[in-house]
Amino acid sequence: MISKQALEEYKAIWRKENPGQDIDDQTAMDEATALLTIMDKVYRPITKDEFDAYNKKNKKEAYIRCKKCGTEIYWNTHKKMTPCACGAISVDGTEGYIRMIGNKEDYEQIQK
Ligand SMILES: [Zn+2]
Repeated sequence: MISKQALEEYKAIWRKENPGQDIDDQTAMDEATALLTIMDKVYRPITKDEFDAYNKKNKKEAYIRCKKCGTEIYWNTHKKMTPCACGAISVDGTEGYIRMIGNKEDYEQIQK
């Protein structure tokens, strides 16, 4: 249900877009309801919990693999700079960031 105030705001916008014309309450209510209905179907924002769960799930399975020695380092090193076996790369990851030392071409991110 659309509040009286929201309906008046809708009508004000409608009048701006249709200069010299007017819209009655029932038509405005029908149009505004249709607009909200389609927005609800099309635009589906996710909740913060869903967003966090998505990020957690995706990050948890990420490893950084050294292409030179094959060492796979789990992304979350709890802020400890962790080198691979050959020393070509180092990973420092925690919630919120992952820092890398080494040449970009020497490592890749893999999912496990
Ligand atoms: Zn290495």
